Order: sequence, then structure tokens, then C-alpha cells
Amino acid sequence: MSIDIDKVLSILEEEVRDYQVPVVDLIAVQTHDPFKVLVATILSARTKDEVTAQAAARLFARAATPQELAALDEPTLQKLIYPVGFYKNKAGYLAALPAVLEKNFGSQVPDDIDQLVTLPGVGRKTANLVRAVGFGKPAICVDTHVHRIMNIWGYVRTKTPLETEMALREKLPEKYWIRVNSLLVAFGQKTCRPVGPHCETCVLASLCPRIGVTPRKLRPLPKVEDGEGLMREGAVKRLISWNVNGLRAAIKNGFTETVRSLAPDILALQEIKAVPEQLPEEVRELEGFSSYFYPALKKGYSGVAAYSRMPADSIRHGIGDPRFDEEGRVLTLEFADFYFVNCYFPNSRHDLSRLDLKQEFNRAVQEFAQGLAAKKSVVICGDFNVAHTEKDLANPAANVRNAGFTVEERQGLDDYIKAGWIDTFRAYNQEPGRYSWWSYRGNARERNIGWRIDYFLVDPASRARMVGADILDDIPGSDHCPVVLDFK
Ligand code: SF4
Repeated sequence: MSIDIDKVLSILEEEVRDYQVPVVDLIAVQTHDPFKVLVATILSARTKDEVTAQAAARLFARAATPQELAALDEPTLQKLIYPVGFYKNKAGYLAALPAVLEKNFGSQVPDDIDQLVTLPGVGRKTANLVRAVGFGKPAICVDTHVHRIMNIWGYVRTKTPLETEMALREKLPEKYWIRVNSLLVAFGQKTCRPVGPHCETCVLASLCPRIGVTPRKLRPLPKVEDGEGLMREGAVKRLISWNVNGLRAAIKNGFTETVRSLAPDILALQEIKAVPEQLPEEVRELEGFSSYFYPALKKGYSGVAAYSRMPADSIRHGIGDPRFDEEGRVLTLEFADFYFVNCYFPNSRHDLSRLDLKQEFNRAVQEFAQGLAAKKSVVICGDFNVAHTEKDLANPAANVRNAGFTVEERQGLDDYIKAGWIDTFRAYNQEPGRYSWWSYRGNARERNIGWRIDYFLVDPASRARMVGADILDDIPGSDHCPVVLDFK
């Protein structure tokens, strides 16, 4: 199937009209200044648009021309542009830029691609964007979105952005050259996203061949009003697990609205860091749910909770070991045909001082769950505080002996897998780059420098009851995002 490029691009023109304009285009329209477009383009690599826009505004307030930029030293530039991705490298490029512009181009930004790529920090993509957006001259800027989406459409079949650029130069009508980058960046950021594209709501759904796209495995979200009966035996239930990193903080971040939109049948929370009395009534008794809390003895620390549309037949607090139970780490809900075990695994700590304890916890939970699985299906979910394989974190090599990726902790999860327990997300998705936790530091979430440490496991005999699993990485409100299992 070959896509009709005129048709899809004209549909997208309509579609992205209400989207946010990419920051570099905005700066071009607002300033008509190739120098500012060049600087903003350098800043924008591997950085979210909001962050680029703020950094560019701070920088341009001090340096609106090459001459003013030359007056700023590298440490000052670093401070001005932080937290854009790779800010140290970019500050170095910006510090070197005025001298190169002056020496070779009379302090004017050139409009020629071959000349532009001689400037510090300017690759082919940046050069094309500056020529197209900054000068309005024909050029095709192929970034990751253009490369990816053109291949998804089958309009080109290429392996690298450079190959895509060359193929598009041959094939794409010139009237689209300048515009195509803005269109596909906006569309790629909002709808045809690199991870979990929203095909179900996409305006191109009927035209797109979706080459190489992994479809989302989840059924459409059930409406809250339809909740009645969702917990019937055999009916598909949406189970969600979320480390909220402090329920009171999550409430301030829109917890109740998020839960309403996610419409879970059972919601497991970890690290609630609160006793029920500290919570507002509407969260203590979430409308439409039975609520169960198991806080730690120590105030403001650890603790788990669960909300269920159907009251559990029985509840079990802990696993019978005071070392773990005092920290409110395991809460089990029993239903007619399955157990739901909500766990918050200890962190082994930076100095690994709790590694032994964590391993003991791991074994104790497995033994506990194994015992339950002898009776009926078991779903274990929660923050396991470990990335299982190299695919499950952004920087495996740098974290080999670090808490959460030690051999011992990874073996702990191996033990479950060897015993036949199923890592449900991996049953549907083998791609790297899907994470459930990001550090609050260094723009990690925006740069997707994350870890997959939240899981749903099911017992070996219950594979056929799995319907789909996913990571809801677009849900804000905590340093973790929710993970989901549809289970029947
Ligand atoms: S249908 Fe899916 S893959 Fe195709 S353009 Fe739309 S979001 Fe992208």
C-alpha cells in the first residue's frame, strides 16, 4: 500500500492547526532572524519544546546577536541554557559559534547547507532546518519524526535519516519541503508518537499502512459509569499499579482526576507515605471503590493501598514477617477466582546496605505467592525496585553495580521467571525504551532516561487469562507512571 502524500499532508495541515507550533518555527515567525533560529535549533536537540523555549528566551535576553553571544563565557552559557539536554556540549558550541561566524561568514548566518554544517554543533538536520525555517529556502529537515513517520507510511523505505532526506529529495514535491518537518514534528509529538502511537484516534487511521508499528494491546478504556459488573468472573478487568511517591503529593498533582480517567477495576498504590487519617475523605473513600490501606508504622514512609470496584472477599495485610510488615509492603486482596497481591519491594539503597534484606523480601514474597497459586490464580503487581534486563533501563552499562540493577536483584526477578511467572508487559512488548520510573533530576523523564521497575506478574497457570499489558508513560503525577494489566 502506497500512501497518497498530497492527501495525508493536507489532512495533517488541518489536524495540526490546533497543535502547539514547534518552538523553532515559533521563533522564526516571531523574529525573522536566522541567528536566533540557528541558536534555538542547536538548543532544541534532544530537548522538549517548552524547555527549549524557556532556555532560548533566557539566552536571547542576554545575547540577541553573535557579538553579544561572544561576550558570554561558557559557564554563564551553561547556566542560561540549563536544563536543555546536553547543555554542557551545547554551551561549548554556542561559545565557539561567534568566532566561526565572524571568521568565515562576516558574522552572518549562511543559508547554504554545506556552509552551515561547518558551524559548531550544526549537523545536517540543523542545517536543513535553519535553511528552511530561518530563510524560507527549499530544504528538507529530516529529524527522527520525519524519518520514522515516512517509513511507517511506506513513502520511503530507509534506514537512516540521511537516506530518508535523499529519498525525499527525489520523491517529495518541492512545495512540501519547508513545511514537512513542522507538520510531522507536531504530529509525531502528539499523535503518532514514537512509543505507543495513538492509532485509535488518528485522523490517518484508514489511510496508514502502519509499517513496523506495534499496536497497543489494550482494549478501549471502560467508562467509569459502566463499572458495574466489570469484576464478574471471566469479564476483562483493568488492573493498574502505580507508585505514587506520596499519596498526598499525588493528590495535589490531580490523583483523583487521573484515576477517573484511567477507570481501573482495581488500583494498587505503592509508597503512599500516609495513614488514611491524613487523607481527604474523597480519597480515603474513593467514590465507586472499596478502599484498603496498609501504611507503614513509621510515619511518612513506604506503605501500600488498593481500591477495588468489587469488595474483596478477604484481605491479608503483610506476609507474616514483622521486618517487612512494619513497613507496609504487601497487601493481598482475595476474590472468587484470583488473588491480587500488591507489593512495594524495598530499595537496596545507594550503598547496597539493604540488598540482603531485599533479597529476603523477594524470596518471602515468591514463597507466599507460590502458596496462593496452589489455590487459584495470582496477580502480583507493584514497584519491584529492579530493572530486570538491559532492555529495562536507559543506561545499563553505567548501572551494573548500582541499586536496582545489581546481579543479585536481577536474579531475584529471574527466580520468578524461572518458576514460570509471567512478566506480563514483556509478553506483549519486546521493545526497549519503555520505562516506568525516571529520576526527577536532569530532565530524565523528558529525555526518557528511565527504568522499568514496576511490573505485573501472573502465575504460570494463568497465562490464558491475560488480555493485554502496557505502561502508561504519558500519565504524570509521580516519578513513576502507572502500569496496567487487562485480565479476565
Ligand atoms: S495510524 Fe498510527 S501509525 Fe499511522 S500515522 Fe496514525 S498514529 Fe501513526
